[in-house]
Amino acid sequence: MARLIIANIDYLVTVDRDRRIICDGALVIQDGRIVAVGKTGEVSIDKTTDEVIDGRGKLALPGVFDTHVHNAQQLGRGCGDEAYSGPERLFRRLWVVEAHMDKGDALCAARLAQVEMIRAGTTCFADPGSYFAAETAQAVKESGMRGMIARTVFDMGQTVMGSLPKGFFEPTDEAVGRADEMVAEFDGALDGRLKAWFSMRVPVACSDDLLRRLAKLAEKRGVGIIGHACENRDEVIASHLKYGMGDITRLEKLGLLGPNLLLLHMGWVDPKELHMLQKRDVKISLAPSASMHQAMGNVSHGKTPEMLELGLALSLGSDSAMSSNYLDAIRQAFLVVGGLHEARLDPKVLRPETAVEMLTINGARCMLWDDDLGSLEVGKKADVTMLDIMRPEWQPVHNPIANLVYCAHGGCADTVIVDGKILMRGGKVLTLNEHDLYEEAQDRAKSLIKRTGLEDVVKSIWPMH
Ligand SMILES: [Zn+2]
Repeated sequence: MARLIIANIDYLVTVDRDRRIICDGALVIQDGRIVAVGKTGEVSIDKTTDEVIDGRGKLALPGVFDTHVHNAQQLGRGCGDEAYSGPERLFRRLWVVEAHMDKGDALCAARLAQVEMIRAGTTCFADPGSYFAAETAQAVKESGMRGMIARTVFDMGQTVMGSLPKGFFEPTDEAVGRADEMVAEFDGALDGRLKAWFSMRVPVACSDDLLRRLAKLAEKRGVGIIGHACENRDEVIASHLKYGMGDITRLEKLGLLGPNLLLLHMGWVDPKELHMLQKRDVKISLAPSASMHQAMGNVSHGKTPEMLELGLALSLGSDSAMSSNYLDAIRQAFLVVGGLHEARLDPKVLRPETAVEMLTINGARCMLWDDDLGSLEVGKKADVTMLDIMRPEWQPVHNPIANLVYCAHGGCADTVIVDGKILMRGGKVLTLNEHDLYEEAQDRAKSLIKRTGLEDVVKSIWPMH
């Protein structure tokens, strides 16, 4: 297999142990792994056998992680707008859309989600679960992305926050059995590009028995559990009313807290519970745009600086087209920094470098993938995001990390590489047919929204002629 060399990179952001930024840098990739990192002049190029990408006018960084993406919610874009976060958004909007989908909708949604992520420079996502794990896996096969999938397990039809849609919950045995089959089938598939974990969509809609069994199965299979927790105030109240305690205390009691647990949102964690997260090395994914869009209060009430102080691994997630409403991890980086500056009235509370760690090495830690991913170092897998910096919002460049977080966005992505394979080059996605996909998505989304009865929710309040 020919070597792939990326040379003349203006800024090569390694996120290695020393956090080196190499000017006029080069990367050499062989058989999907990085075999050399350095200055362009230090790399020998054989023009007869090597494929060479010119990195002039580009910034390269380790492949970007988006650690909270609901592939299946892509066709419902806008259905969560102006909905109160807990009882209204989840129970009357998002889950209603998911409950009305068929497999064709799910495959189309996952393809569309992954095109949106590739175009935003994302190489790896974590999906908190749906009833369409196989369709999400099929889209990963086609798109060439790296990802983690999970199968939804709900075993309670009634909660303090509301009722789940018909067909959206199962008896405990069936839920656990199907989730276990899915993990057995997909974990490690697609040459290791795919992980399959257990899902805990929302703790208040999962029985104690279900959660205990998920913890045991995850340990047996050697995989993780991904789930939402402390997402909004309604959910905290619901957990206290039903179980007499908040999510984290309950999860600790049931044996779920551990280094293989990735918790999403976490804005309403009780400060008294933070030490449990530290003791168990629990991983966390923040979703600032979903919080701002849905008035969750995770930015204003969250404990992000305190979690960082405790050494917890924090990463960033876009959530979904029905919550965020876009899949762009680099925009999340600005929001997590800017949001905290505003919430804490302190422009020094979080630096842009910390946000870039969340996008890269800490994303890898959260997905238990940091042995192979998260930095551009010899021996690691070749997942690379290259951004075009010959754009007005990038100029001039004094500090490339500050520009990346404060000025850039995912739309600056030019080239995306996973396992040494090029998924997008020069802004053109090479793995999926975007034009056909957009036409199919529009048709399917119209029909889906009609079936859910949410047409009035998504339409403009201004007259459309
Ligand atoms: Zn979510």
